[in-house]
Amino acid sequence: MKLDFPKLEQKILKFWKKEKIFEKSIKARAKKRDFVFYEGPPTANGKPGIHHLEARVFKDIICRYKTMRGFRVLRKAGWDTHGLPVELEVEKKLGLKNKKDIEKFGIAKFNKKCKESVWQYKSDWEDLTEKIGYWLDMKDPYITYESNYIETVWWIIKRIFKNGLLYQDYKVIPYCPRCGTSLSSHEVAQGYKTIKENAVTVKFELVDEPGTYILAWTTTPWTLPANVALAVNPEIDYLKFSLKNYPGISDGNYITSKKDFEDYKEEIGKNKFRYGAIVKIIDKFKGKDLVGKEYKPLYPFDAPYKVIAGGFVSIEEGTGVVHIAPAFGEDDMNVIKMLNVKCQTLNEPEFPILLTVNEEGKFKKEVKKWAGMFVKDADPLIIEDLKKRGLLFGEELYEHDYPFCWRCKTPLLYYAKKSWFIRMTEVKKRLIKNNQKINWIPSYLKEGRFGQWLKDLKDWAVSRERYWGTPLPVWLCQTVNSQQPTVKSQKSCDNIVVIGSIRELEKLSGKKISELHRPYIDEITFKCDKCGGLMKRVPEVIDCWFDSGSMPFAQYHYPFKDKDLIDKKNQFPADYICEAVDQTRGWFYTLLAISTLLGFGPSYKTVISLGHVLDKQGEKMSKSKGNIVDPWYIIGKYGADASRWYFYTVNQPGDSKLFSERDVEKSLKKFILTFWNCFIFYNTYAKLRKTPQQNINVNPRNYQRKSATLLDKWIISRLNGLVEKVTQKMDKYDIVFAARDIENFVIDDLSLWYIRRSRKRFQKPRNAQELKEAAKTLALVLETLSKLSAPFTPFIAENIYKNVSSFKCRLAQQVSKKMSVHLEDWPKANKNIIDKGLETKMEQARKIVAMTLNQRAEAGIKIRQPLSSLKIKDLRFKIKGDKELLELIKDEVNVREVVFDPKIKGDVELDTEITPELKEKGVLREVIRQIQQMRKTAGYKPKDKIMVRYEGTEFLNKILNRNKNFVLREMKVEDFCQKDGALYRTVQGGADQVFDIEKEIKIEGQKLWLAIKKFKKF
Ligand SMILES: [Zn+2]
Ligand SMILES: [Zn+2]
Repeated sequence: MKLDFPKLEQKILKFWKKEKIFEKSIKARAKKRDFVFYEGPPTANGKPGIHHLEARVFKDIICRYKTMRGFRVLRKAGWDTHGLPVELEVEKKLGLKNKKDIEKFGIAKFNKKCKESVWQYKSDWEDLTEKIGYWLDMKDPYITYESNYIETVWWIIKRIFKNGLLYQDYKVIPYCPRCGTSLSSHEVAQGYKTIKENAVTVKFELVDEPGTYILAWTTTPWTLPANVALAVNPEIDYLKFSLKNYPGISDGNYITSKKDFEDYKEEIGKNKFRYGAIVKIIDKFKGKDLVGKEYKPLYPFDAPYKVIAGGFVSIEEGTGVVHIAPAFGEDDMNVIKMLNVKCQTLNEPEFPILLTVNEEGKFKKEVKKWAGMFVKDADPLIIEDLKKRGLLFGEELYEHDYPFCWRCKTPLLYYAKKSWFIRMTEVKKRLIKNNQKINWIPSYLKEGRFGQWLKDLKDWAVSRERYWGTPLPVWLCQTVNSQQPTVKSQKSCDNIVVIGSIRELEKLSGKKISELHRPYIDEITFKCDKCGGLMKRVPEVIDCWFDSGSMPFAQYHYPFKDKDLIDKKNQFPADYICEAVDQTRGWFYTLLAISTLLGFGPSYKTVISLGHVLDKQGEKMSKSKGNIVDPWYIIGKYGADASRWYFYTVNQPGDSKLFSERDVEKSLKKFILTFWNCFIFYNTYAKLRKTPQQNINVNPRNYQRKSATLLDKWIISRLNGLVEKVTQKMDKYDIVFAARDIENFVIDDLSLWYIRRSRKRFQKPRNAQELKEAAKTLALVLETLSKLSAPFTPFIAENIYKNVSSFKCRLAQQVSKKMSVHLEDWPKANKNIIDKGLETKMEQARKIVAMTLNQRAEAGIKIRQPLSSLKIKDLRFKIKGDKELLELIKDEVNVREVVFDPKIKGDVELDTEITPELKEKGVLREVIRQIQQMRKTAGYKPKDKIMVRYEGTEFLNKILNRNKNFVLREMKVEDFCQKDGALYRTVQGGADQVFDIEKEIKIEGQKLWLAIKKFKKF
């Protein structure tokens, strides 16, 4: 039979849909405890890939498992619909290049396009979700752009504001000049690349010592026009040296750190020798001795241009002198802000923050030489300019990690901007404490990637100067000139109102509000209750990661509806979430951040962070490399179950997966097919036979089986052990080892041993009772396996369950049958029937068999050739007195007797002498095997009777003639004789010599012709 798993799965999908099995599985548990699962929302403006398959199967398995354990697991789908990823796609489609273009196009029209575009691949997502068997409630999803969702996000922002944790500040933040917006540090963390660029050492001449220069090193020459000071570390050693005749550097006196000077000792030595350069140390001093000295600016504006002290200055790189451009460096900004406070009290001139670059990353007109030029493009021109003016000391190619925009790949600038922040540093301790309560899988993430992230936490830059997002619900009194990019603002009304609900805004503005997005919301104004001025919304929208992190609350429109879901902890926190590892600093972080800010504790208890899916060479999959694997292709070819099994067993969920189609094929062949074949065996030999109805009593809740057969007792013992192990592992989220336990059981215990050793009982039972016992046992094993495998491979499990249990029900009406395995309870292990003694004995027997078969192989004797005896050395073996087990060994290794003999050399010794009588048996076995194979090839059913004709050498003919009755007894053969045997004519009535299958084989080196045909009575 040709098997088509994908087709079979389609049938099952139809059945689930028609009978609403998913809905029933939830309803059936309605009154029990909830197991809470949160779906991380994908963005549907891109097609799902193979890595999305990974996340979906790991989400599904736990939800299905917990359902079978008696929990109600709601699985509300969600869609992430806001933010830069969406805007960028639309910009590309419309051919818009920057924010100016968008505004010219019109924000209303632009946002409308964004809203449409997020559904572009919705049906692909739904289709893939269904095909892989991920049960998710897609009928009632949460959507981050809906008013209800936004209203909850506003409510959250207001709570944060009320707690004093929302503030606006002028800070240096990572900024994408193309997208025209600042980014949060967790976004920046996603876009680092290693690059090589020019670093320069620049000369700053001291005002009171002409010809003496302080050296400063920088990788961003474009920040030099914004320089206002030089910082040295007051505690470290510096020195002044003179240079003469040094190649490439003009004569003069230079100041640098002692360490920097020493780093060049070797090079200086060489140049002395080769060019007669004269290098002399003139003076040594501490950094504090330099503080206060004035220098000549490279590009003069109005500033003090002095050496200042900075504790952050290190000697690791460069000259131990940092050129300070406060608008473009976080440390720079901080040190200048602090210094200016001092300057104010001392009544000294303050250091200005020179914002020489506009929001598009281009030089402002004040920087005349390069006005309008993108700063990164200006770098080489600035270096050239310094060289010409004799202000360049050195230049080198420097390799370092630099952040790029995670969406558009533009190099980010550190840029002074007024933005809105959430004071995460204030709740850092609580975040760290809450993290301790989370069960991380893999566990090293807790203190590693995630824990480290929390330790180095910065305030969350939460505002985005963009269009398509949840508008920041902050209204400012316009009497404040809030958009002026200076640190100090004019003293006036500083009224801030943060809106926490639609009603609140309607009341204040007196307007009915139906659309919360820009630009409509920007038009909603109201009167300042402090000064009577105009309250207007700030232009920013909220980081879309804030949206997704709000989902535990916003998906239920908390606190405006169903408050109990959160307050009574019915749907909070999540017991389980699961996404790819790149969400560690994304969704995993924002979920925890928001619930912590609200004082709700951690929003999830267990998280599985999945490894990346790479191509088989370990390369990242990308369109440009052409190594993307289409998930539909994989499911269509190997089926959802095989794809699922691949992800569960290939390695630990946290490890990267080097995806190869062959590995999926392997899971299909190794596990799925073996499992299926066990079921087919059952279906063929147990189900088709008519078994008497009386005395059948299979109770699925009780595995105490009364079968007298050793093998039955053994497999039931193993089965209960398996249930116990898999349950323990699944409770610990140890999916890989639970799956491997099931696989080992199906392959080693069930297929290679139990079924193999029980063939005779099924195919040629001595009586009805024997078949009944074997069939009952196998039915029980298969039904239990169908339940155990249901969360892993829901399709094949359903198929087997339905077929096996329906058979059982036909036999025993008292067994209540569920419509689907997914409505079943998870099996319980009965520890009382786990017989460790028996399992040990069976293990010994199997070991002996393996060793004996090895000896046969070494001697080149086929298994079908009976031999006279097998000797076993170890008298301590528990199997010694066990007649049934010894029979089993005898049968399996095909010997007449098994004896124990402590005098033999090895552990087992096989008597390999073949007597004529043994040879005759061997020939018969081989012929029987050949006939069986021909029956299969002919496609006969097991119950079909056949007639056989043969013709061989005299030796073979004699053997077969002599053993006719033996063959008739062994097989379903009605007529067995030589080609022109007399019986042929009597039965068939004559001339018919046309056979279904004919074959010529060789036995013992001699030719034998065999032919078969279905037997018909005339
Ligand atoms: Zn960008
Ligand atoms: Zn006001």
